[in-house]
Amino acid sequence: MPKTEHYQWYTERFAPTEIHAHAIEETYFAGRTAFQAVAVLRTAVFGKLLVLDGDTQSSQADEKIYHESLVHPALASVDDRRDVLILGGGEGATLREVLRDPSVARCTMVDIDGEVVELAKRYLPEWSDGAFDDPRARVIIGDALRFLKDDGGRYGVVISDLTEPLPDSPSFPLFNGEVFRDIKARLTPGGVYVLQASTAGFHNLSLHAKMARSLRAHFRHVSSFYTHVPAFDNDWAFIACSDAVDVAATGAERIDAYVRTLRGENWFYDAQTHRRLFALPLYVRRALAKDGDLFA
Ligand code: SAM
Repeated sequence: MPKTEHYQWYTERFAPTEIHAHAIEETYFAGRTAFQAVAVLRTAVFGKLLVLDGDTQSSQADEKIYHESLVHPALASVDDRRDVLILGGGEGATLREVLRDPSVARCTMVDIDGEVVELAKRYLPEWSDGAFDDPRARVIIGDALRFLKDDGGRYGVVISDLTEPLPDSPSFPLFNGEVFRDIKARLTPGGVYVLQASTAGFHNLSLHAKMARSLRAHFRHVSSFYTHVPAFDNDWAFIACSDAVDVAATGAERIDAYVRTLRGENWFYDAQTHRRLFALPLYVRRALAKDGDLFA
């Protein structure tokens, strides 16, 4: 056993009365960009970690659980996937997963923080795995809010891989009714908007439930799904929204056929995982059933 008293510790504060701590084996970078505090660390269990404003964004050991869940249920459910848009996604792993689909002709990624993207290329190249050099990748350093106003493109899938919308975060202005309308206007008729949508922990469901309730005012089908992400030490939720496609109901045959077309092998997602992701326990369904649009 290593002598843990010699380690520095990274403590993630979940609540005033709850912290989760990782012993740091190495710090590759710790500093501030124009938009957020950034740390790139290595821990014994999770390998390398990206931390923004004190929140774990993804870990080398289990980032595929998060990124395959964010990307593939939506892509598997959409017929026209030629053009895909990612809001945020600084590590490049969402881009990597999208570009594994050979039917994607172009994937646009808009992240506000060029320094995070450069740090990810330098210290976390396993995450993007060459995706930044793929000729189908269009990487724009800029505010996704501005991009959604100025861009005239249409996308089969819009993926929101933004930081948590906490009041001081640059992602906060992207979670309101006006932006949900702007995103809907960017979707092709059979398109899907999917977002990472906060924790699904039994004790901390309110932000996720608010997002889902608000999105129901804009889209016909709004399906929550979640999985445990060990590096987050939490259950993590996503929401798939569409007027045309019920992602929760996408069938096993369609998923199997889609997965067979992907370059390389999935680690987490297949038809059975899809069923598990969308099978929600009673306490989650009850929280989602409450009314009230809190992002007007
Ligand atoms: N897995 C994640 C989590 O746990 O929250 C999100 C991953 S990704 C690192 C989040 C990215 O969103 C960051 O790179 C950050 O720079 C970007 N971001 C935040 N606000 C943004 C905005 N307004 N426009 C574009 N990108 C934004």
